Amino acid sequence: MSELENNDHRRIGQELDLFVFSDLVGPGLPMWTPRGTIVRQELDNFVWELRSKHGYDRVTIPHITKRDLYDTSGHWEKFADDLFKITSREGKEYALKPMNCPHHTQIFARKPHSYRQMPQRYAETTMVYRDEQSGELGGLTRVLSITQDDSHVFCRTSQIKDEFLKIWDIVDTFYKTFGFSLKVRLSFRDPNTPEKYLGTKEIWDHAENSLREIAEERKADYFEGPGEAALYGPKLDFMAMNAAGREWQVATIQLDMNLPERFDLTCINEKGEKERIIMIHSAITGSIERCAAVLLEHFNGILE
Ligand code: ZN
Repeated sequence: MSELENNDHRRIGQELDLFVFSDLVGPGLPMWTPRGTIVRQELDNFVWELRSKHGYDRVTIPHITKRDLYDTSGHWEKFADDLFKITSREGKEYALKPMNCPHHTQIFARKPHSYRQMPQRYAETTMVYRDEQSGELGGLTRVLSITQDDSHVFCRTSQIKDEFLKIWDIVDTFYKTFGFSLKVRLSFRDPNTPEKYLGTKEIWDHAENSLREIAEERKADYFEGPGEAALYGPKLDFMAMNAAGREWQVATIQLDMNLPERFDLTCINEKGEKERIIMIHSAITGSIERCAAVLLEHFNGILE
């Protein structure tokens, strides 16, 4: 600890007694003390207060799933290296969830939705697990268990812009409250490796153009990042900057036209026909671990 800089979140986290790592549990698996848990809950409460003004509902899912869900979503194949896999006593294959979207599609798909009931907005703060390199020792910025303040909006194509702008407002309010200014990256596909992504070129072109229009309309401070997209669609990635010019990657909003295809998600439109919908993924803190690390360093551990 003595080699760390004074405002390193690892040092501050230990001094304030917020989180701990155990050799028995393993690196990259932080546990939160009673004090640290208060910090986490305050962050999550703030996000929820902002989300609930925009019509979000909470949902709850289990942390594992049969392989079938990820065969359908494409994660079993495309995300294979990062998946923690489990075999049951009966020899059935399961995985720990590396993200929540596939589970949430199954909540949406439980019944038909009229266009009058769209959008459906689900939010859940929950851990996901990724078999990444555990990275810097004792830090919160690269962990195997990540708490996302996750949300999925299921909406019609005509509602994309409105929903994006609502989430953008939440992101703005959240980070301005802490004294950050924001810059946004339009994270697009790498044109040289189209096989890395799910979905057709047409779907991607359309999605990327929509994000560009939204950023233009918002008159945002933005730049484009080829190769930074998610598996299933392009994203808006927000960078928070403090007065000293330090920069952190924080919130994300992602447009997804692929998972709705794979799970055949629709609503019933005005003509009584099935209409393909789209999904918008977003996390305001990015992850609670990362956000806590950023705020500890930004405020030098003075959280009151
Ligand atoms: Zn998602």
